[in-house]
Amino acid sequence: MASTHYPELKALLREAALMNSVSSLLDWDQETYMPHAAAPMRSDQKSLVATLAHERRTSPRLGELLAHCESDKSLTKADSESAANLREIRRDYDLATKLPKELVAEMAKVGSQAQEAWKVARAASDFKAFLPWLTKMFDLSRKKAECYGAPAGGELYDALLNEYEPGITAKEIDAIFTPLRKDLTDLVARVAASKTKVSTKCLELRIDPTQQHAFGQAVLAAMGFDLNAGRLDTTAHPFCSGLAAGDTRLTTRYRDEKFTDALYGTMHEGGHGLYEQGLPKMDGEKDAGLFGQPLADAVSLGIHESQSRMWENFVGRSKPFWKWALPKAQKTLSPKLKKFEVKDLFAAVNTVKPSLIRVEADEGTYNMHVMIRFELERAMLQGDLAPKDLPEAWNARYKDYLGIDVPDDRRGCLQDVHWSFGLVGYFPTYTLGNLYAAQLWEKINADLPDLSKDMGKGKFIDLREWLGTNIHRHGRRYRASELCQRATGKPLSPTHLLQHLETKAAVVYGL
Ligand code: ZN
Repeated sequence: MASTHYPELKALLREAALMNSVSSLLDWDQETYMPHAAAPMRSDQKSLVATLAHERRTSPRLGELLAHCESDKSLTKADSESAANLREIRRDYDLATKLPKELVAEMAKVGSQAQEAWKVARAASDFKAFLPWLTKMFDLSRKKAECYGAPAGGELYDALLNEYEPGITAKEIDAIFTPLRKDLTDLVARVAASKTKVSTKCLELRIDPTQQHAFGQAVLAAMGFDLNAGRLDTTAHPFCSGLAAGDTRLTTRYRDEKFTDALYGTMHEGGHGLYEQGLPKMDGEKDAGLFGQPLADAVSLGIHESQSRMWENFVGRSKPFWKWALPKAQKTLSPKLKKFEVKDLFAAVNTVKPSLIRVEADEGTYNMHVMIRFELERAMLQGDLAPKDLPEAWNARYKDYLGIDVPDDRRGCLQDVHWSFGLVGYFPTYTLGNLYAAQLWEKINADLPDLSKDMGKGKFIDLREWLGTNIHRHGRRYRASELCQRATGKPLSPTHLLQHLETKAAVVYGL
């Protein structure tokens, strides 16, 4: 007789996932439409739902059921869905139960104070004011990593990485980032020395946000994002929340000038959204079949980011895309765009210029910002770099890798919010996303020889189906590295991203 443990385990997980989805809905509402006066009660609502979800995810009953299932041979056959599910449920359960409650509470409390202190310190460019908080957050992060424990042969930093990019180690990242950094430094220097000056005039038109919104929605629809199972709204910081089966929320922000900010924000979040919509949360006729199970979850932040970067950079910043989008933009956005050609748009959105702020960086220099943060946070966690020496180390790397002087800490080591609430090990996933995207893109183009032609006509269905078949539908069945190997036939390597950036720079700068 089939055991009832596995169905009970899945039911418990589904309940926890439903609570998480309620929590995400509360978050979404808070960022979009919630009236200001609702804030105090909203935080009570959120903390109640979070507690209920946490109780389920860490309940002893879940632990018992999991242990029963793990000893059931019919569920643990190699390569079976149930074995993959159980492997990932075990991972989540261990992560959720290995941290003492006191540490979780302290991190939350100190983190929210540190974040407030960071806001003030950043505005005043006052690193000394933030230093005690930075020190505390790294001490707490180290404690957290110790509770998780370093993997065999690995280092403490790996334990934190594992939260965001399961299975990868700092050593492996280093082996990919180091050659990439050397080659990128060289590319950026060659671009800087080039005599070609790129005009960005075509991006400097004033365009009404309402028209931008309509254009963004048309692009999303062409990408295949199902607007009957999702929405696009406006927030201060764009995000994508795949909060339930049939419900994926995207947000973007509009600037009157430089319409490509919102456009690429929308395509970026749209890429995340397509992944969420492609996960097997629904199971045919049955409502929300796999919802709540790891098989219906995104595999890692790096893979999630590969989906957003692919649509933003590999599709959105390509010539075929503009061949299709420019006539539409001339009609919907502004007749002033009629003065410009596809090659003008292509060059303007692909300029490469070292700059101080990560979130404003171009595709060519972005990864340098990430690599600097990876090196510094790893050193701080290991105790090789004292937090008090951060500004000096930061500025030296910006000079070294990007050739620029950092004028103050506001535009230097105080610019990102991450470390203030203990997000250590998160930064590398941004560049892993670009690397995965580049490697997938090369394989996709080999598999779909007509892709460029199709994109020029606004036809993205084959691309979306490829991603659905090779990435989306697997959920967490394979770890990111295995998924990459299966989808592209090769382990992750820096050469594909570099090739992609070299090819663009050759066209734009005549290198
Ligand atoms: Zn993203």
